[in-house]
Amino acid sequence: MTMNTLPPVAKSFFAFCKKCDADRYHVVLAHTSATSAKIKCEICGSQKTFSLPKAQTKTGKPLTGAAAKKREQTLSSRKSSHRNEYEMLMSDEKAPTASYNMKGKFEKNTKLQHPKFGMGFVKDALTDKIEVVFEDEVRTLIHNRP
Ligand SMILES: [Zn+2]
Repeated sequence: MTMNTLPPVAKSFFAFCKKCDADRYHVVLAHTSATSAKIKCEICGSQKTFSLPKAQTKTGKPLTGAAAKKREQTLSSRKSSHRNEYEMLMSDEKAPTASYNMKGKFEKNTKLQHPKFGMGFVKDALTDKIEVVFEDEVRTLIHNRP
């Protein structure tokens, strides 16, 4: 559905709510310009500005929002590739499991239970440091402390 005109004040329409992270009914509070309106999410009550999709600018320059959106996509795809790596490592059934403790000594390819960060996977082990892939990110931890 493409809107060419703003929905009337007090009318509800479906739009994406960032706070709810879902499509929600939003009620139009006021028109702030010919192409934008102040709207309120009917579920969480957050208010935001709704703008009609702009026509191509006169100069033909790309809209500024596009760059920001692209960056967002890059970030989220990086996040999901980390997630894929984590899940792949966690599915290794041959890897032994150990509990983290800085005095312990851990080998590469060990599943590591960390009290704060949860389950991780030792991707690399040096004399005093290990690189561990946790669900959210890769962390370098110390180990093998006398
Ligand atoms: Zn909402």
